[in-house]
Formats: sequence, structure tokens, C-alpha cells
Amino acid sequence: MTGMLSPMRCLSILLLLTGCEDLLGKEPNFSGYSEEVCTSAGIATVNVDISSTETAFLISADGDHLVAVESIRSPSGTVLHWEDWYTSTNYLTSAIWPLSSEMVLNWPIRAEEADLKQGTWDIDLAAVDSSGHYKNGSCISVTVQTKEDDNFGNGTVNVHLVYAEGVDALEDVTIAVDAAIERWTDIWAPMGLTPVVRQSSGSIDPDLPYAGNGSEDIYDVTLDSYEDEITLIMGETIEGSNDYYGVAGSIPGTLTATTRSAVVMGWVANAGLDGNFSELDISIMGETMAHEIGHYMGLFHPVEQTFDAWDACEDTPECTSSSRCDEVLGSNLMYPYPVCDMTGCVEQGDLSDIQGEILHRYTGAL
Ligand SMILES: [Zn+2]
Repeated sequence: MTGMLSPMRCLSILLLLTGCEDLLGKEPNFSGYSEEVCTSAGIATVNVDISSTETAFLISADGDHLVAVESIRSPSGTVLHWEDWYTSTNYLTSAIWPLSSEMVLNWPIRAEEADLKQGTWDIDLAAVDSSGHYKNGSCISVTVQTKEDDNFGNGTVNVHLVYAEGVDALEDVTIAVDAAIERWTDIWAPMGLTPVVRQSSGSIDPDLPYAGNGSEDIYDVTLDSYEDEITLIMGETIEGSNDYYGVAGSIPGTLTATTRSAVVMGWVANAGLDGNFSELDISIMGETMAHEIGHYMGLFHPVEQTFDAWDACEDTPECTSSSRCDEVLGSNLMYPYPVCDMTGCVEQGDLSDIQGEILHRYTGAL
């Protein structure tokens, strides 16, 4: 049986990007720039010049209309076309869905996507209205970030953990957060990934916004993060409730400051119904950190809770019922909910090889 009363881990794929900061990457192997492109025949092309040492790029777009990736063309040909994935029940990236004026694309995604060939890559972005009609003369602000790290077996991910106002005064919470970060570190260790967490105190209201809906308050917090840091905000509740352990702004998320560029978590849900952090609560909080940051780095659930849509990882099974999926995927880090019974919960720390490939290819994994 599953924990029906358990809060969910969730995110929204509706995105909105309202601003970009100057890029000041503190890592020498990480850089970026911003520009504006406008559509003709509904398409605006972003030219990304890739050097021999660059290995991944992240594009964040903010348009006048809904924005989605039409195609990605490498120097030797098309490597992705929206129609190949649009109606698929396997999700590779939310960038192909025109759901919002904001779009975030990381490339490559899996190891099977082409290596990042040197030369000019053309990323065609479509601007469409809510009926799906292409829009001409529609302008899109674009930020392109790249990394030069060619080690896809070992890496660090810089995370800026910001406590909402007053939360870092609660010693039980800060002790639990530190222990949860250790659990997260242990989960990632077999894949050669290490979270490097910088903690600070913020003034955001501890009742946090739902990150997927976007919020100026999230934007303000992320202005204080470095350009190679993912922002994780630790508050008390999310949208006034304990329905969620945590929420990621988008899949993937951007490294620029936007209204959705954060993972938000509420400590009360993570402490469980009694308000005290047990060892199990701390373990689940560490799993939630790794799960939500996993979404932010491009991972979908291996199976959605509707049991009719899956990720694009061939090494995660395509089960079709809760009982079967709990059995074959219940220990996966990206499973959509904790699997618990009267005796406890299944540890959810497993990642498949392809899930690991995706994390390592995220432009913020250095
Ligand atoms: Zn999730």
C-alpha cells in the first residue's frame, strides 16, 4: 500500500521567465550571454557557437507568446524535432511543449544524444498563440549558458540553500536539514555527483510560493545566487499547505534568476504529522532534496502517477499500475511518491544509469 496521506513531490511544467541577470559565472569552465531574437514565419533561430572544449548548453527563453523548441540542428544535421516527442508518452524535455512564454532547454540530455560537436548549432524556437498558430515578429529574450566540463562520470552541483525568514532560528530544523544533506550526498555518491551546498538566511515569507507558478519573491531570492548555483529555498509551508514536501520550478530549470528558478521545500511536511524530525523523516527529506534537484536537472518521474506516461530512459521499466510500479520502481529516487506501509517506507535512493547520464549532462553539473 502507498502512503495516501503523504505529501506529494511535484512540479508544474507551466513556466514563466521574467528577467535575466548579467552572467558572472564563478567557475572558469562556465559562461553565458543574453540576446534577443525575433520570429519570422513563426520561428526565431538562436545560433550557439560551440568551441572544441564546450560540452553542454542551457538555453532559457522568455517570449511575448508561448515558446517551444521547434528543432535543434547540430553542425551536421537535425538532432531533435518537436514532432518526434510531442505526442510521445515518453518525456524527454518540457522544452517542446508550448505551455508558457518561458522555456528552458538543456542539451545534450542523455548520452545517446549526439556529442556536442564544435561549430554553430541552430536552435529554432517557435512562438505560438494558445491555439497553436505560429506568430510572426514575436521577440524572445534568450540566455545561453555553456560548460566546458567533459567529465560525465564525476562532478559537483553548486546549490544555494536559502532559509526563509525565521526558519534558520529553529535549531531542530537546521540540524535536520544538515542531516538530510548528508542523506542526499549519500544518494548521489554512487553516480560520482556531489552537492556543494552554500547556506544563507533570506527574508522571503516562510509560506513559500508554488515554484512552478512563478513568483517575484522567488526571483528576488535567486538574485543572490551565483550563476552556477541552483537555488533551494527552505520554508515552512508551500501555498499555505503541507500537501507538498517540495516543488521544482521546471524540468529542467535554469541557472539564471527568474520567477521559477528554484526548488522550494516546506519543513513542516518533511517533519511528518507529529512535527518532529524522526530518522525516517530526515531520510525522506534528503530524498526530497535529491528528487526535486533531480527534476531541476532534467529528470522526469520514471512513471507518472497516471501510470500512462514515462521518462525517456530505456533502463527504467514501463509499468502500468500502482501495485506493479511500486514493486519495480518504488525504490527509484524519481518515483512520484513515497512507498510506505505500516512498518515503514521504502528507501528511494536508486538511480538508473541513464538517469545518471542526464544529471551529469546538466549544464550546472560541473
Ligand atoms: Zn517529482
